[in-house]
Amino acid sequence: MPKPLMRIPYTGRMPDPLIVPRSANTPAGSIAALIDFLSAKSSRTGERHGSAQEQTVLLTGAGISVASGLADYRGTNGTYTLNKTYRPIYYNEFLSNHEARKRYWARSYLGWTNLNRAKPNPAHWAVKDLGDLGLLSSVITQNVDSFHNHAHPSLPTIELHGYLRSLVCLTCRSEYSRAAFQRQLSDLNPAWAKFLESMLASGALDTEHPEERRKKGLKTNPDGDVDLPDAPYSTFRYPACPTCLTDPPTMTSTGEKATVEIDADGAWVSTSNAGVLKPAVIMFGESIGAEVKQAAEESIDAAGRILVIGSSLATYSAWRLVKRAHERGMPIGILNLGGARGEEAFFAKVPASNTGQLGVRCSQSADKILPDVVKSLYRDQR
Ligand SMILES: [Zn+2]
Repeated sequence: MPKPLMRIPYTGRMPDPLIVPRSANTPAGSIAALIDFLSAKSSRTGERHGSAQEQTVLLTGAGISVASGLADYRGTNGTYTLNKTYRPIYYNEFLSNHEARKRYWARSYLGWTNLNRAKPNPAHWAVKDLGDLGLLSSVITQNVDSFHNHAHPSLPTIELHGYLRSLVCLTCRSEYSRAAFQRQLSDLNPAWAKFLESMLASGALDTEHPEERRKKGLKTNPDGDVDLPDAPYSTFRYPACPTCLTDPPTMTSTGEKATVEIDADGAWVSTSNAGVLKPAVIMFGESIGAEVKQAAEESIDAAGRILVIGSSLATYSAWRLVKRAHERGMPIGILNLGGARGEEAFFAKVPASNTGQLGVRCSQSADKILPDVVKSLYRDQR
């Protein structure tokens, strides 16, 4: 049995970014190097021209969504940078602790609108174009915002850490829409619904910057949580899985029927032992599903090169995919503002004569660079 791959946060310091080739130290130099990288022919003998081995697999992280208004982790306005005490919820807490779930859902209830309104940015649309040009084999993303799926539904995308657009029942694994769930949360928590409305009106939720939020009336405690004076988050309510509620499943551990109970308004109550809904994301401390892990590895193996966009590879699950590509001798590209975990090793053997075909490393914003890469590649095609 292969070891399950657990999602764990990495808090170590990142090195300063490398620049490969040296000419990639400007936007124009980065664009030129990325064009060489993406359009390079396979160096392996006997490869059919235009085969998957000449295509690039992308690995994207939070950095690609910053231009959509979402916070990354380690950037200038990143979650970990602005809020030193920020601690994400761990899977085990969510699984076993009703109080932790109330806190999670109260936070998520306020945050959802911002994510739901956010849209793919020029970097995501450039990925679509690169796919249309036949240069990409697939996309692996660490992001849970579904922007890739929106921007390029026909280019295969593996969501390594799941997706926020759905909920999954921890007991029966049924999935439900997050948008509908948001309406249920409003109904179950009227004081919060009123508060959310006023925060939307004040513009406090247009930013993820804690200081700007405070100025607009959204006060958070040191952990980043909001507490309403007349409705603390310890009173926050969330619904039960409708499937488990109608037809309680048999518990595999005891062989007995599960207990799923709700209060008069339909909120899950703690006398239940099943029917808890979780966002369909891989939380920290949770293992990535074996099928997803395998699909990601197959995506690496099927491609000829890998380009990382907007990730510092801090998460082990992402870093090890690049390491896998490196061990297979695939050229590696990294387009990320700031350093990336263990990157020296990925570029150690790239010869000085390289102009991008054998590796590229630049520290630029993807939404500023990629549209020009695409424009130039389209021009060359004509
Ligand atoms: Zn269920």
